[in-house]
Amino acid sequence: MTTEKSTAEDFDPSPGASEKYDVTVLRLGHRLVRDERISTHVGLVSRAFGAKRLILTGADDHTVDSLRRLSTRWGGGFQAEYVKNWRDFVRHWQGTSVHLTMYGEDLRNGIDRLKKDKARKILVVIGAEKVPKEIYTLVDLNIAVGNQPHSEVAALAVFLDRLFMGEELYTTFGNARLRVKPSLRGKKVEFVKNEN
Ligand code: SAM
Repeated sequence: MTTEKSTAEDFDPSPGASEKYDVTVLRLGHRLVRDERISTHVGLVSRAFGAKRLILTGADDHTVDSLRRLSTRWGGGFQAEYVKNWRDFVRHWQGTSVHLTMYGEDLRNGIDRLKKDKARKILVVIGAEKVPKEIYTLVDLNIAVGNQPHSEVAALAVFLDRLFMGEELYTTFGNARLRVKPSLRGKKVEFVKNEN
């Protein structure tokens, strides 16, 4: 891996696609140890694919802390939090709520509906193993990323990418300490010197 130095001013701090929608991901049923890796992946995908925050429910472990540390290194204002009462969180959500499930309506229709309704603040709920039945009626929309069972990580990535129409991949993450310099071969990383 080669490294170079540059300053924060070298980068456009434009927030990118994530300004179009304010997306929060709610991960239901996080279980200690067992789900740590998947929940971390849910956090990584949420951040990299344009969501602004991840809410974990279930067990409170160091997943939230490790996601916060990652955001400090790689930039952006991504937030990770733990909430105890997910029902209240969904009930009091001020915006549109979407549950990703293989039993939901077709992804294309779901995204069209969100666009037609001019949804801006979107809560995306994903499960772990089995979700409580009531989530299907608590949310505004149940959307399927295909009607086959797969994974919350895959469902989330595809949903966000369709919502942002691929633009989220070109977001600049402000205040990063490290930044990748894309290259055809090898690993090039820049250390960014922030002024503050
Ligand atoms: N049979 C389970 C179910 O209720 O969907 C699959 C559980 S899966 C291991 C965990 C999570 O992945 C689900 O709660 C859901 O959020 C997501 N998921 C799995 N397949 C999906 C699909 N085809 N479309 C949307 N979300 C899906």
